[in-house]
Amino acid sequence: MAFFDELKATAAAIVAPGKGILAADESTGTMGKRLQSIGVENNEENRRQYRQLLFTSGDDMPKFISGVILFDETVYQKTDDGVLFPDLLKSRGIIPGIKVDTGVVDLQGTEGETTTQGLDNLTKRCQKYYAAGCRFAKWRCVLKIGQNTPSPLAILENANVLARYATCCQQAGLVPIVEPEILPDGDHTIEKCQKVTEKVLAAVYKALNDHNVYLEGTLLKPNMVTAGQSCPNKATPEQVALATVTALQRTVPPAMPGVVFLSGGQSEEEASVNLNAINKLDAKKPWALTFSYGRALQASALKAWSGKKENIPAGQAEFLKRAKANGLACVGQYTAGSIPSLASVSSNYVAAHKY
Ligand code: 13P
Repeated sequence: MAFFDELKATAAAIVAPGKGILAADESTGTMGKRLQSIGVENNEENRRQYRQLLFTSGDDMPKFISGVILFDETVYQKTDDGVLFPDLLKSRGIIPGIKVDTGVVDLQGTEGETTTQGLDNLTKRCQKYYAAGCRFAKWRCVLKIGQNTPSPLAILENANVLARYATCCQQAGLVPIVEPEILPDGDHTIEKCQKVTEKVLAAVYKALNDHNVYLEGTLLKPNMVTAGQSCPNKATPEQVALATVTALQRTVPPAMPGVVFLSGGQSEEEASVNLNAINKLDAKKPWALTFSYGRALQASALKAWSGKKENIPAGQAEFLKRAKANGLACVGQYTAGSIPSLASVSSNYVAAHKY
């Protein structure tokens, strides 16, 4: 296929040692909630100002951040100097990516389960984003752990839609980030989360194979395996690492180059410490294991900025702290507590999180 070599090279560049992804693709509604938390109005200019703060942060950014996921609006926004955001990122050696799903809808007859929409004209949309400079894409599917969930229907449908999405991306030269997120909501144990993660990932890789997806030109964005948010027994970072890597070993082919974890409501510090433990674990790990964090890279930055011009440098400094902590964590060199940031220990948990 035309794009095979390029897809493989893009995926490898995204998961280069010591680097990971900034997820800045919050939809307008989700960005509104973030801005509301710091008392800032959700309008296009404020969203542009905030994204500019992140993308123009100092020289450490390209050392630790290989790619940024954008939202459609952001692809066409410019810096104060009139440079399109994708061009700015490219000039800094950072690969622009794009969220291409259009959100979740209910699966009829299930206990509140969902599938994700956005397949209509997807290859065409991907071609348009490629022309705008994007080289990878994201599509988020959501699964819930409950007494009867995830159901076989939800597992099958979400695996299939992720595979269809992946083929549309690859036809247009974008590396698909395949994201089957199992929500942390609930009081389930870490063992239960591991079991469900294995079932979901196995179904996803079966579907990717059925759809002839070129695995070398993809990335996986899963949840870490943790106990549920309201489970009384919290797991240690070492337990999270063992359960997560075991689940991946059992289901994810070595041809797939990199796992870019989502932070899923973990605090900034937890997300760094758990990623570090995953990389320190002495086990078979044939893929890069790095980050594609939204909340766990932005919580402190957002708070420090608080919508004020004079706080832009402070916001950028907070963002760079977390970028560095995670850059170290993805090579197993982060020491817990060594990079304190403004909101580093605050939970970022949001019930039934929407993106
Ligand atoms: P969080 O790191 O905030 O979970 O978000 C990452 C993401 O992109 C989810 O789709």
